[in-house]
Amino acid sequence: MDLSKSSEWQKALSSQRSLPGTPVSHKHFPIDLRTSMDGKFKEIAEELLAHSLVDSEMRSAPYEFPEDSPIEQLEEKRHRLERQISQDIRLEPEILLRAKQDFLKIDSIVDLEHLKEQDEATVDHASKEREPVLEREFQRVFISGEEKCGVPFTDLVDAAKCVVRALLIREKYMALSMQGFCRTTTRLLHDFSHTPLHASPSKEVPETPVDTDAPVHPPVSEIHPYERQDSTNLPSDLGYTCKMMGGVVHVYTKESPVDRCMELDLPYPDLQEFNADMNVMMALIINGPVKSFCYRRLQYLSSKFQMHILLNEMKELAAQKKVPHRDFYNIRKVDTHIHASSCMNQKHLLRFIKRAMKKYPDEIVHIEGGQGQTLMEVFESMNLTAYDLSVDTLDMHADRNTFHRFDKFNAKYNPIGESILREIFIKTDNYIKGKYFAHIIKEVMSDLEESKYQNAELRLSIYGRSRDEWDSLAQWIITHTVYSRNVRWLIQIPRLFDVYHTKKQLGNFQQMLENIFLPLFEVTVNPHSHPELHLFLQHVVGFDSVDDESKPEHHVFNLDSPLPGSWTEEDNPPYSYYLYYTYANMTVLNHLRRKRGFNTFVLRPHCGEAGPIHHLVSGFMLSANISHGLLLRKAPVLQYLYYLAQVGIAMSPLSNNSLFLSYHRNPLPEYLSRGLMVSLSTDDPLQFHFTKEPLMEEYSIAAQVWKLSSCDMCELARNSVLMSGFSHKTKSYWLGPDYMKEGPEGNDIRRSNVPDIRVSYRHETLCEELQLITHAVRTQELENMEEEAPLSMAPDLPKH
Ligand SMILES: [Zn+2]
Repeated sequence: MDLSKSSEWQKALSSQRSLPGTPVSHKHFPIDLRTSMDGKFKEIAEELLAHSLVDSEMRSAPYEFPEDSPIEQLEEKRHRLERQISQDIRLEPEILLRAKQDFLKIDSIVDLEHLKEQDEATVDHASKEREPVLEREFQRVFISGEEKCGVPFTDLVDAAKCVVRALLIREKYMALSMQGFCRTTTRLLHDFSHTPLHASPSKEVPETPVDTDAPVHPPVSEIHPYERQDSTNLPSDLGYTCKMMGGVVHVYTKESPVDRCMELDLPYPDLQEFNADMNVMMALIINGPVKSFCYRRLQYLSSKFQMHILLNEMKELAAQKKVPHRDFYNIRKVDTHIHASSCMNQKHLLRFIKRAMKKYPDEIVHIEGGQGQTLMEVFESMNLTAYDLSVDTLDMHADRNTFHRFDKFNAKYNPIGESILREIFIKTDNYIKGKYFAHIIKEVMSDLEESKYQNAELRLSIYGRSRDEWDSLAQWIITHTVYSRNVRWLIQIPRLFDVYHTKKQLGNFQQMLENIFLPLFEVTVNPHSHPELHLFLQHVVGFDSVDDESKPEHHVFNLDSPLPGSWTEEDNPPYSYYLYYTYANMTVLNHLRRKRGFNTFVLRPHCGEAGPIHHLVSGFMLSANISHGLLLRKAPVLQYLYYLAQVGIAMSPLSNNSLFLSYHRNPLPEYLSRGLMVSLSTDDPLQFHFTKEPLMEEYSIAAQVWKLSSCDMCELARNSVLMSGFSHKTKSYWLGPDYMKEGPEGNDIRRSNVPDIRVSYRHETLCEELQLITHAVRTQELENMEEEAPLSMAPDLPKH
């Protein structure tokens, strides 16, 4: 272990707060992570990025699995066989279960009423009286022998170093922006390198006031959260000034931001370093030995899971049966990816439009040619009556014509193909101040509340066209009291700079960033400046970046790229550019908000749905978790990294099925079996779902097509809670006060209905993978030391 290097590392870490306004730099790795690729990162990355510009439809990209290799065909055969086997195994308990259900059949209404009362009497306490025996013994698969992973040792070391390096890069960006990083991964990475943690996890665990036997539902506050709007209660004005420079907001303690000494001590990411890290990551994902190493490990993880299921499925099922009251229906699920403007289903929207036509026929809803138009007149101008309307005329469902046609899909947002109806019914900033949209969202919310166990993280848009977007959004939220304890908000930023630029609404990219971020800084410095926004932000979880990823990009983000202030070209900046500047401003904002004791935000972009692979690289480096991640199926190195860092992936197979990838080819079951942190989400119920409970529809179809077990489903649901932005306290009620602990310690089957066996298996497998890698790096280091050591120690050695 090189001590001088480790102290350098320590210094780099503690330097975070030394120089105000200077970018934080962690260039030094704690251990020797030099590999055979060093010095060539820039060339490799540039070539690869340039490649992705010219030819986005490459037949086989350098980071991919070979598409029609015999391995793939064998794979498919194997999968089919495995599914058949597991299906056979499952039949037996099903017969038993059915017999039991018959036995318990309810005969009369009286019985039914009685049962209902009983049910209400035992509302969801995490069963106090009968403590279930914790089932932790299960059959484990061990691999023995020196050669563990079937690649030459030098390849293993090289690959391990690359993987460790990539993980450290992610850890750095997560720590800098106050986003989370997997605890197990952090612990194992630092155990072996003996370096101090960015933040010791034991200190980070907040106090949980939640009792082990507390009910599963968090207590409901008496006061509506928006009614605490008394301006005397608002935190005071700090009197700071904010100014955006080079695309990132800087904060100054005094009015005039001329003097640099007046700058507030907040960490900023360093553009140059980010580019260097990005190059390292790009070179890594196409490195041959690393690729085949990761591919093999992923295969191993799949097979290991199959063995686990073969040996322990019955035990898992038994453990679930032992838990009283809890089943898949009454565990918490969060829809981790859903857009507010399409969170209702078609039938719901249709009924709502008809009701509005009856109730408010004479309300002026729209200005046409300087004249107010009533709702009746709008429909008359389209030659329609309420009776004519049907789901078919509404025509908002994605169908076979939308596959690979994102443009056609976008048009589906317009009811009856009329953008005016979209404006009236599903927008927040129209002539009626978003009244109808608020109503319909509140109906969706009350459906969620009625279902008790379903929650959603709805996305609302901020476009960055003008400075007052935040205020009007917050006003909409507060005046219509759009709130539910089952809902948290995410802000989606569409990547539409080129559109606004062509319309002359924006001169350069920095103006867009200013419109998005300056109001957030203003309200954090002085909550009195935007009181509604201050209130609204308490329920906002983070930022999303949205648009069609398959649109061609004409730029490579590198050090030659213009800064946002000079980005005046027609072309849209590339995906990574958007993500980097969102991340950079969010990082500064988070530090400022933490100083004030306000909630902080995370980055949760749409990523890897389509388009070039480097979107997933930016996502890995900068975001807490991502939506879609479909393209990971082609990039083994990245998939393995997403696994090791346990980066959450909110997947929506029904949405993919209509747009990018047919259902049977969706990688979700594969990701789940390998242990990636995946959850199920709906994306756009208005376009894809048919029932009142779209999230359940999503689970139901997945379970049936992929033959998911009850344990798999509960694991997906638990993942969705873990990766969601609900508060630590709420999660403590839903999953148990110890939910942040590693492995089975953190699981409470009485709340999650996930057997400890499954959680132990996941935890042990992840630890083994991380140990394999860290061990390889460490062994080589020891060998190096021994090679050097004998020279100096030679005289002391006794001769034989
Ligand atoms: Zn989406």
